[in-house]
Amino acid sequence: MKTAVAGAQRRARSGEIAPETVADAAVAALPSHAASLRPVVNATGVLLHTNLGRAPLSAAAREAVRAASGCTDVEYDLATGLRGRRGQGAVEALLAACPPAEAAHVVNNNAAALVLAATVLARGREIIISRGEMVEIGDGFRLPDLLVSTGARLREVGTTNRTTAADYAAATGPDTGFILKIHPSNFRISGFTAAAGIAELSALGMPVVADIGSGLLAPEPLLPEEPDAATALRQGAALVTASGDKLLGGPQAGLLLGAAEPVERLRRHPLARALRVGKMTLAALEATLRGPQPPAVRQLHIAVTELRDRAEQLAKELAEHAVDALAVDSVSTVGGGGAPGVELPSAAVSLPESYEALLRERRVIGRIVAGRLLLDLRAVEPGDDVRLRDAVLAGGHRASGRAATVPVPGDEA
Ligand SMILES: *Cc1c(COP(=O)(O)O)cnc(C)c1O
Repeated sequence: MKTAVAGAQRRARSGEIAPETVADAAVAALPSHAASLRPVVNATGVLLHTNLGRAPLSAAAREAVRAASGCTDVEYDLATGLRGRRGQGAVEALLAACPPAEAAHVVNNNAAALVLAATVLARGREIIISRGEMVEIGDGFRLPDLLVSTGARLREVGTTNRTTAADYAAATGPDTGFILKIHPSNFRISGFTAAAGIAELSALGMPVVADIGSGLLAPEPLLPEEPDAATALRQGAALVTASGDKLLGGPQAGLLLGAAEPVERLRRHPLARALRVGKMTLAALEATLRGPQPPAVRQLHIAVTELRDRAEQLAKELAEHAVDALAVDSVSTVGGGGAPGVELPSAAVSLPESYEALLRERRVIGRIVAGRLLLDLRAVEPGDDVRLRDAVLAGGHRASGRAATVPVPGDEA
């Protein structure tokens, strides 16, 4: 007996594991996820948070990804046993959701869509672009640099605040590849401004490529300033480019929609092979388009009264455990390069700021406003409210400074 105790003490000192606990220790040491990307709860109030992966997929899209992740008929026709056209289902879903588009093609992201369009339609030629639309999209990446990297030349027209159709008209010529309209999706210019519309530009007789950014396929009444693909095509755009993981609410992807001829040229260009998407992206995109409303779209439309009810319920449950929690009004934004300046009324649970790090440890990300941590519920799936509550309660004894009897790892004197 004495030797067993001494053995255990020796093992504990040396970090060895007792034979009878080897299995438990091995299981405990397994990571909870095989990859380092972990799920988080987005309580920031920013619907499409770039640092949190932009749009969360719908349950239908996740299921489609799971189904496609093994061997799948992505390029195989099960009826004939012959090679099938890759991504046909996603393309058909896009065309069904955007009737003015004759053809569609899917690439890795909107930046890739622009690279493909510039390479195929304007390499060695000019892209006419307004000085007010020379946009940096984030993390130091600038669309003008991206376009020039393809071997196209930029022909800047107009000024930062005002560019007219006449400015574009004066710049068109035999060297023109296309006119590019970029939606200023992450900033707003107000005051003495003017911009030419797609309809006016299409009348100039040059192809117009419209980068609408956020991926709305049809107008969204809640976001009247946000351009959509169907309207841009009806106004005469030859090609529309957009992201799949912004307001469309799907996976990271670049959408190219437009007239049959340019889309087919893009699709058959050698570079298209380097920009193509995987089977899981195609599956998620198709399910997003055909399935129930994805979370981002649902969250955009939730009534603020519903959010207030949830915030009050959560605050009440937390207050019952002596947590300093209040239900408060809040303001959400679309984020992720969509609808700049649009404020969506929301509701949040307000906590002492000291909860920020504790909740982050438990993968709940809020935002700090005026010395309080707000957990904004607009981008939180209702089923995750209980995760928020449990995360707060689990961290409570440390954040409140009261009853700090549970030792914190690394906190020992
Ligand atoms: C977001 C955005 C892009 C970049 O899209 P990615 O899908 O992230 O490559 C390009 N243009 C506009 C107008 C955007 O809003």
